[in-house]
Amino acid sequence: MNIEIIKTQTPKQKPDQKNLGFGDYFTDHMFTMRYTKGQGWHSPKIEPYAPIQMDPAAMVLHYAQEIFEGLKAYRSPEGKILLFRPDRNFARLNVSAKRLCIPQIDEEFAIKALEELVKIDADWIPTEPGTSLYIRPFIIAMDAHLGVRAANELLFTIILSPVGAYYKEGFNPVKIYIETEYVRAVKGGTGFTKCGGNYAASLAGQEKAHELNYSQVLWLDGREHKYVEEVGAMNVFFKINGTVVTPSLEGSILSGVTRMSVIEMLKSKGYNVEERLLPIDELIAAAEAGTLEEAWGTGTAAVISPIGELFCDGKVYKLNDGKIGETSQMLYDELTGIQWGKLPDTFGWTRVIG
Ligand SMILES: *Cc1c(COP(=O)(O)O)cnc(C)c1O
Repeated sequence: MNIEIIKTQTPKQKPDQKNLGFGDYFTDHMFTMRYTKGQGWHSPKIEPYAPIQMDPAAMVLHYAQEIFEGLKAYRSPEGKILLFRPDRNFARLNVSAKRLCIPQIDEEFAIKALEELVKIDADWIPTEPGTSLYIRPFIIAMDAHLGVRAANELLFTIILSPVGAYYKEGFNPVKIYIETEYVRAVKGGTGFTKCGGNYAASLAGQEKAHELNYSQVLWLDGREHKYVEEVGAMNVFFKINGTVVTPSLEGSILSGVTRMSVIEMLKSKGYNVEERLLPIDELIAAAEAGTLEEAWGTGTAAVISPIGELFCDGKVYKLNDGKIGETSQMLYDELTGIQWGKLPDTFGWTRVIG
């Protein structure tokens, strides 16, 4: 398929790179591609960034048939444009698609389209330390139809947003609220997919956390409220007595690209890493005994987010004196070093656009 390219006649002014925040600014162009039943995916285009026209009955607005991805492009010190494991993101998009009855996309084609788009908006990749170009691919159901069924018409879009730090704390410990009432996902549901509905269901817990001045929610499993699952938009790791423990993928948590990269990196450095069910009682006991040495979240947006405090059932547990732990620091330095092209990529994770 040939991608039609329509360039903007009115380029926007670029934001101040020192105050990007996260997800507030968008580049000059976007990629779009349509799906029509019987015809498949068609009409790929790079066109000026603009509002999407849809019918008020568009199915996504009513039944939330929507999936998305999140990855980043970085500008290396030599001026090259780097992507971090984009193949993993588009493979996961298809995993999400399958669960939400959305037709599969051609992963290689989608990566090519993304590369074309990033090249066209290359001037938007920020270069200040800690900044990058966040990439948001998403697919939505477009049929004007109010009966519940899988869509026959869909729109695949990629938009780009120059970003700074995800959390206002930057690379500093965040405070985490352990939610014991609401749940985010259950086995058999959509927890392993990146779909908007999961996030809609998480907002109430998030609000509770914010009221108590905690920045993120740590979710427990949906059936027994017994096992640790993940944090809002991050997978979670704990260093207990020298061993790194992270919840195993049981169908209700997302298989994070950062998570899998962190596991690989830790193993390559000789760490003992366990992917298993982690009871919240074990975690709290470790915190009380002083053997919970470190905790951190992993995700594309924040990369590594050290955890300085846990709140569970009215009790507060401080971790590592609220300071950044050595493993979190090492992972942040090594991972962002590879992502920004400042350290050699011995894992083969980087894709150079060119
Ligand atoms: C995106 C996301 C993550 C992190 O995945 P990465 O691929 O590392 O960015 C973790 N949990 C949830 C719920 C997510 O949506």
